[in-house]
Amino acid sequence: MTEKIRIAIDGPSGAGKSTIAKTVAGRLGLEYVDTGAMYRAIGLKMGRLAMKAEESPALQAMLDETEIDFRHGEIVLDGQIVSGQIRTPEISMAASSCSALPMVRRKLVELQQKMGREKSIIMDGRDICEVVLPDAELKFYLTASAQERARRRTEELLEKGEKADFSQVLKEIEQRDYNDSHRTVSPLRKAEDAEEIDSTAMSIEEVADLICSRAHAYLAGTTAR
Ligand code: C5P
Repeated sequence: MTEKIRIAIDGPSGAGKSTIAKTVAGRLGLEYVDTGAMYRAIGLKMGRLAMKAEESPALQAMLDETEIDFRHGEIVLDGQIVSGQIRTPEISMAASSCSALPMVRRKLVELQQKMGREKSIIMDGRDICEVVLPDAELKFYLTASAQERARRRTEELLEKGEKADFSQVLKEIEQRDYNDSHRTVSPLRKAEDAEEIDSTAMSIEEVADLICSRAHAYLAGTTAR
């Protein structure tokens, strides 16, 4: 791909953003930036340091010396790959709590914007279309019913050999939806100029096909949105 393209995807937990973004990245040869993994890494570090989810000079000092990067699709925290440690329900909640802190958002948004300046990327999260990459070439809001998202997440956990109870997963998804859309800083919402895709009754491939067709149309010089 010669022309630079940035694809932004926002949406609630479990809508399939990361699987779809990875698929599209592979097909179009783009770098994938999973911003949720970055909030999870900070949540992990705060937990390790027994820091409360509140702003303080200690939190700022910790953020100033924290390094977060991606290497071959893995999330690297202070030089250590932590991809295997950030996908637990505890870290999901820790990420949701720390992501409401302006200090944390400032640090990560700055890093994400830097990544977006350097290359063609597909980035997913909650505030990508409006805050991180407001001038992205393509913007999507990917959603699905809470029931369907909980069903997918339960299946995913069971496939990994982990314990999962549908009603508990649904409760956690609804709690995170509430937290993410009611916080004061960058609440989750659909950007006006984002195309909404409801994936409740769509397969990963169908959603990926749709996004790729928009990207091809954009790159062919057609107005894609
Ligand atoms: O996408 P994922 O479920 O991994 O994100 C974990 C948490 O990080 C979300 O529940 C949300 O609170 C937060 N997040 C955010 N902004 C982003 C990405 C994730 O606030 N851009």
